[in-house]
Amino acid sequence: MEQTLQQAASINKVLAKRPLIISGPCSAETEEQILATASQLAATGKVDILRAGIWKPRTRPGSFEGVGTKGLPWLQKAKELTGLPVAVEVATGKQVEDALHFGVDVLWIGARTTVNPFSVQDVADALKGVDVPVLIKNPINPDLELWIGAAERVAKAGIKNIGLIHRGFSSYGNTEYRNAPMWHLAIEMKRRFPEMIMINDPSHICGRRDILQEVAQKAIDLDFDGLIIESHIDPDNAWSDAKQQITPEVLGSMMDTMIWRKEDIISEELHIQMDKMRAQINQLDDELLQLLGQRMKVADKIGQYKKDNNITILQTNRWNAILERAFVKGGQLGLSQEFITKYFDAVHMESINHQNKIMNS
Ligand code: PEP
Ligand code: MN
Repeated sequence: MEQTLQQAASINKVLAKRPLIISGPCSAETEEQILATASQLAATGKVDILRAGIWKPRTRPGSFEGVGTKGLPWLQKAKELTGLPVAVEVATGKQVEDALHFGVDVLWIGARTTVNPFSVQDVADALKGVDVPVLIKNPINPDLELWIGAAERVAKAGIKNIGLIHRGFSSYGNTEYRNAPMWHLAIEMKRRFPEMIMINDPSHICGRRDILQEVAQKAIDLDFDGLIIESHIDPDNAWSDAKQQITPEVLGSMMDTMIWRKEDIISEELHIQMDKMRAQINQLDDELLQLLGQRMKVADKIGQYKKDNNITILQTNRWNAILERAFVKGGQLGLSQEFITKYFDAVHMESINHQNKIMNS
């Protein structure tokens, strides 16, 4: 028991490091591969936790489904060899038990499991009474409720140290990414659960090596707590996810060339400048809200007028004219058409809702 407590304290300390870097192969393939990857990763001095998939949920049968429980002792050896704590994906209660039996330090729930409340509950039931950190990947589909539900089930099982992994979302017809990042969803999760760490998984977002660093950098710029990046001693010949893996050496130089930003600025002078600019932003936001309130009051009046004269709410020509005007004006002010469209869509919807209320009152 004592040892378990000690183990829990030491892994929680590792997870508190910023930036937290987790790396290792998509899948454990052989003992040699695991030991070589682990020692090369440890040699970079950049990695905090070794990851490896033991059980691989594959979309199609016939793909490599992981080496299974026999790979767990390899991870134990890798840990003894390098001192790096190890993390594996679990999708069933039995896998939780096996992983814990072999001293795995961190468990993660994969994207294909997070979508399924039965599976998440099965994992959660096996976690009762255990003190192990659990990282939860976002579900495959862009549905925050599933992600939150999984975190709640794991929390209800008594797990204290829960983290989140943003690995992107499946989207039809997407070409640039394997899984569209949809950053706003991860940001919303961060906002709702500030006590949970948020780690970005650029490997599964990109599905390819060339844009890995770009995505990782964006996550760091957005104040994510860390990265989980797949690495392999011979990426092209990896048994799973070959296109997105990089060597430990490339991972090391990638970490060297990243720009690590701090959320908190230390210098007094910078603090003063930032406070001033933030005050300006707050002031401008207040004014914008005032103006929007006024705009809606005018919309209410128009609504009353339309009601009295029996005119439809939506008048397409008028709406096109508003947008055209905004594109020209906004363009001169350096605002993108994309932003103008989104902003006016939102304002327009609010306006219609206001008018709708009046016309049906
Ligand atoms: C993985 O991490 O190798 C994995 C299977 O990821 P995901 O659950 O994000 O697809
Ligand atoms: Mn993978």
